[in-house]
Amino acid sequence: KGDPRLEAISAAIRVVPYFPKKGIMFQDITTLLLDHKAFKHTIDIFVDRYRDMQISVVAGVEARGFLLGPSIALAIGAKFIPLRKPGKLPGKVISESYELEYGHDRLEMHVDTVEPGERVIIIDDLVATGGTLSAAISLMESQGAEVVECACVIGLPEVKGQHKLKGKPLYVLVEPS
Ligand code: AMP
Repeated sequence: KGDPRLEAISAAIRVVPYFPKKGIMFQDITTLLLDHKAFKHTIDIFVDRYRDMQISVVAGVEARGFLLGPSIALAIGAKFIPLRKPGKLPGKVISESYELEYGHDRLEMHVDTVEPGERVIIIDDLVATGGTLSAAISLMESQGAEVVECACVIGLPEVKGQHKLKGKPLYVLVEPS
């Protein structure tokens, strides 16, 4: 807090009320991607945090974790693993379901992508209930990886995903303005 970079990041995120449906204040990071300075600040903050933490894997959650994860992975010398919606990955996968407001969804990852003991960070654009990140943590842990932290640009304060994240730390840059 008090970091002017965080204010620039906050200001670059567009809030779209009632998208995709009534009651949701959609936090749109496509406008952050349009703002080179604010986007660079975002990546820089994550890279500064994780570069000396012996992280060898950045796992990104479909779809908006894919916009952030690879840049961080390249900068810290880690590999990138996409965690995808069902049926998208061609190789052998493991699957984990998680609860949504109505019904449930699944995340999948390719097996044989991490060695036991590898240190992972999981990245997404936003954490709300923490259900999505919990599924991501379960996938990684099922492969013997060590989830060091979950990282998001935006954390919704009213839902506080933290308690759901299987005790893993959560790092967020901003809360909705
Ligand atoms: P949750 O599993 O409840 O923590 O929801 C987080 C996932 O849903 C992330 O992948 C977000 O991209 C998406 N999401 C949930 N709420 C919002 C929101 N208000 N604005 C943008 N994305 C959201």
